[in-house]
Amino acid sequence: MSEIALNLQEVLSSLPPHVRLVAVSKFHPAERLQEAYDAGQRIFGESRAQELCAKQEVLPTDIEWHFIGHLQPNKVKYIAPFVSLIHAVDSAKLLREIEKQAAKANRCIDCLLQLHVAAEETKFGFTPDECRALLAEGEWKKMPHVRICGLMCMATNTDDEERIRQDFRAAARLFEEIKEAYFADEPSFSIRSWGMSDDYPLATHEGSNMVRIGSRLFGIRG
Ligand SMILES: *Cc1c(COP(=O)(O)O)cnc(C)c1O
Repeated sequence: MSEIALNLQEVLSSLPPHVRLVAVSKFHPAERLQEAYDAGQRIFGESRAQELCAKQEVLPTDIEWHFIGHLQPNKVKYIAPFVSLIHAVDSAKLLREIEKQAAKANRCIDCLLQLHVAAEETKFGFTPDECRALLAEGEWKKMPHVRICGLMCMATNTDDEERIRQDFRAAARLFEEIKEAYFADEPSFSIRSWGMSDDYPLATHEGSNMVRIGSRLFGIRG
């Protein structure tokens, strides 16, 4: 069994059954993704549009491609024809561009709003209040080619488990609030994307149902 297949088996066996695994394959060559594919993995996450497009061209067509990183609006057009889920919508401008490019591609693109709950200043995303304001403003309701399916966040980069737990809890609370206020009748609003290699057990404990795991599967690439 390949190392990736072993890692995959280990991670999957540690996840509760309702949690979906996004294999974060950024910076790894297509052959490594193929190994994970051969071991059964079908959802892959990338954080650069060009890299995502290059891999999508050479890898099997039944892969579900997720865009997980910061997405510049001018890059949306490259991924709009095939991307399955955009995890990190962090501005109204980006949402508008996704609507525009999805319409051109004759698709509806699933998106998550990225929350900024971490202590760091530098992270992208909406604060809880900005997120509430975006939804209250309502422009998203006039975007038939965009479907908001949930929230994504990254916890503070720290060893302090309590802080990480608080970040995930803040996201989980906001998810429930937003679900109730805007998506109570929309079963598609269901995705809570938090948890990476170092914090995913905490994340699934705090309500995540989609984890984005890279280095634990593919190793660290220099
Ligand atoms: C790289 C990345 C991950 C995966 O990180 P690991 O620590 O390698 O598991 C998850 N989410 C986002 C947004 C990333 O950029």
